[in-house]
Amino acid sequence: MGLQDLIRDVPDFPRPGVTFKDIGPLLADPAGLAACIAALAKPWRDARLDAICGIESRGFIFGAAMAQVLETGFVPLRKVGKLPPPTIGVDYDLEYGSARLEVGAQGLRPGARVLLVDDVLATGGTLAAGRTLLEQLQVELVGASVVIEIDALGGRARWPAPLPLLALLHC
Ligand code: 5GP
Repeated sequence: MGLQDLIRDVPDFPRPGVTFKDIGPLLADPAGLAACIAALAKPWRDARLDAICGIESRGFIFGAAMAQVLETGFVPLRKVGKLPPPTIGVDYDLEYGSARLEVGAQGLRPGARVLLVDDVLATGGTLAAGRTLLEQLQVELVGASVVIEIDALGGRARWPAPLPLLALLHC
């Protein structure tokens, strides 16, 4: 069974017309989860990363596991109001709704080599917001990794072309 087989399509969730990619079966599968983390981490082994920034909440799961493999720190990018001050934040649009993403203003030193991680790239707004936040901290964004890219939603167009954006699976 491939990793793709561990992603469940949920029609009409969280609202009619949306097909939600459920990563629950992947997380629950010991061999699948291990293979997923290894494959996510592999391209970045020689990237000399200082930190991985995972986006709340499923980006925490994959990002923190990758940080262990790659021996980097982990810095969470969180939804509004979760982090103690000082923080910086950015407002952005979602596939369904809008949101605000925040990061601790002291969590990353300027110039740190950082990888952005999330579970799914849909319309690309979340990853773009993460990038904007990190630019404000003046870190060196090395690229981004997601588990699933939903090709039809075209989110990749919102990511600057020269910067690597790696997707493990395409739906
Ligand atoms: P975007 O901003 O690219 O439209 O949406 C990506 C964000 O929304 C990610 O943080 C992801 O967790 C969540 N998301 C959007 N669509 C899906 C989906 O089908 N499955 C899952 N697991 N997350 C989704």
